[in-house]
Amino acid sequence: MKKADTFYRYDEDKLKHSFYDACSDSQFKEYVDSLDMKEELLIQYTSSLEDSFLEYKNCKNCKSLDKCLNSVKGYSYKPREDKGIITFSYERCEKLAKVEEENAYKDNLELFDMPKNIKNANFKDIYTDDKARIPIIKYFKEFTDKYHNDEHPKGLYLTGSFGSGKTYLIAALFNEMAKKKVRSALIYFPEFLRNLKASFNSDYSWKFDYIKKVPLLLLDDIGAENCSNWSRDEILGPILQYRMENDLPTFFTSNLTLSELEKSLAITSSGVDKVKARRIIERIKQLTKNLELVSKNRRN
Ligand code: ADP
Ligand code: MG
Repeated sequence: MKKADTFYRYDEDKLKHSFYDACSDSQFKEYVDSLDMKEELLIQYTSSLEDSFLEYKNCKNCKSLDKCLNSVKGYSYKPREDKGIITFSYERCEKLAKVEEENAYKDNLELFDMPKNIKNANFKDIYTDDKARIPIIKYFKEFTDKYHNDEHPKGLYLTGSFGSGKTYLIAALFNEMAKKKVRSALIYFPEFLRNLKASFNSDYSWKFDYIKKVPLLLLDDIGAENCSNWSRDEILGPILQYRMENDLPTFFTSNLTLSELEKSLAITSSGVDKVKARRIIERIKQLTKNLELVSKNRRN
């Protein structure tokens, strides 16, 4: 026998040996049998099969997706045979597929500098102990009915104390609308302005155009930013003008009342311009119904 053949035989014996060794575990044996692949092929992949077997066992004992023990949560490392070779890859489990399907509507919400968990805000979880919310919820009902009837409802200018739940409420409305395939953008306005100023030309024009045209828009915490001529006259003004002309519902939350916002918009580092501030306020008034939410601070 030639030397090369001896080596070959030696390797094959080793492979067989480790495969049969692994098969002494009856559960592993059952697993590889269930794959319905030829033994001479399987013996070449013992160590990967052992890895996939561990994940298979985890899946068999799965309690919930949250408690998934696999190396990639919601995925299982699985063998597949194709043209005489086995390849291993991570396959998505049914539970994860279901969750992803149920959450697909969240893609209709675009967040700019907002915490991700705002996408979980839900009408079902809105505190019902708080009478202050009733007019707002009523308005939401009216809003959704009119919107789906093509009646171009106005958005809200929601003012009120810090932590009272203004952002949460509007996010809950946008989530409901997202389930009906209506796209929206939620923008933390002070940070958005800072980032917009710093972003390169292409990113800048994309963002600016996007928020001008998105079907539903929330400008969150307006009035908390340092107002400049640029942010007032080049950003806010044109966005509001476009949305007014195209009947695009626009929402605002603010710690300031409209008259406080007017004062704050008038003063920039370049001086005082009451006329330009007034013009912004007029646009906001055209775009929104004004409501107040006075409530205890829900932040902990
Ligand atoms: P605001 O925008 O008025 O400052 P937020 O909307 O940020 O207040 O709400 C403050 C905190 O309370 C957040 O952590 C939010 O998740 C929570 N929260 C507010 N309203 C509700 C609600 N109806 N149900 C559950 N959590 C809420
Ligand atoms: Mg807020």
